[in-house]
Amino acid sequence: MKIDLIKKLNMAKSYRIKINNFEFKTPFFFPSISTYKNNFDTIFKWVLSNRCNQFLFSAYDLNNKRTELLAKKNMNICLDSGGFELKILENPKKWDIYDLINVCNSGKFDMIISLDPFFDKEVLHKFFHTKNDILILYYEKMVESINYESLFEFAITEHKPEMIIKQLKYTLKKINPNAIAIPEENLGFTFSEKISNIETISNLLSNQSNPILFHLRGCSNPLSMIEYSLSGVDIFDGLGWSSKVIKKTENISNEGKILHNWKTFDYSKLDNCECDACKSNKRKKYNDKVLAHNLFAYKKLLSEIQLLINDH
Ligand SMILES: [Zn+2]
Repeated sequence: MKIDLIKKLNMAKSYRIKINNFEFKTPFFFPSISTYKNNFDTIFKWVLSNRCNQFLFSAYDLNNKRTELLAKKNMNICLDSGGFELKILENPKKWDIYDLINVCNSGKFDMIISLDPFFDKEVLHKFFHTKNDILILYYEKMVESINYESLFEFAITEHKPEMIIKQLKYTLKKINPNAIAIPEENLGFTFSEKISNIETISNLLSNQSNPILFHLRGCSNPLSMIEYSLSGVDIFDGLGWSSKVIKKTENISNEGKILHNWKTFDYSKLDNCECDACKSNKRKKYNDKVLAHNLFAYKKLLSEIQLLINDH
């Protein structure tokens, strides 16, 4: 694996990253797919039948068959650990570090995020180091159990910014991950609070002797992504490109079927969109078209952010 700095512009930076056959520049966006908000089967089928190669999947949603299908498509995948689904779903299945390692070894994933399970807050809140040492052990166990090259991300689990920063400092003293992954929603209530915490984290990471990438999880708001990139975020992921697709269990109403594209909520206007995705998907159904349009829009946005940094 190679991580080369192309350009640094104040706090913003652009890297060229090469993992196996996967080469990309940062800032980078992984469109996410999860059973949590998506109609997983619909999106999964769409992903397999279209020419798009980079996604974030949760290990929780994958099985041997799905992993095999993704491998056939030569897809570059950032694998989330399943801790999120464990936390958010009402009746999650059994899920632990060994389940994660099993999924990791059922295929090849270019990037893998460590497990961030829901700990008993009452018990563990008092024992900050105990909790963090467990997470560090999980991370090390995961790295040593995977027998192929991958970019390993350490997941920060705290919910309050000051605790996140404390956890990050502690972690960096103990291990040297390729990247750290932090949920955007835990970095503060207001936008300016989030920006200031992101800058603090970026500074901490840039003081390390080798590059450690900053992955901001669950962020797909285009305007925020521009600002966060300028504050030092390297990798984003989010459900925004497809999350309006209804869940399978919900009653299908006409409104529920409609996927929103980010340019306009008036979907009739998409007929006249001149972007590359719309031009080549003219005859497709509305939802198929809007998925392609949104993916293309994110790709375009990120390459414009990269240009902004590199050509300054
Ligand atoms: Zn379009």
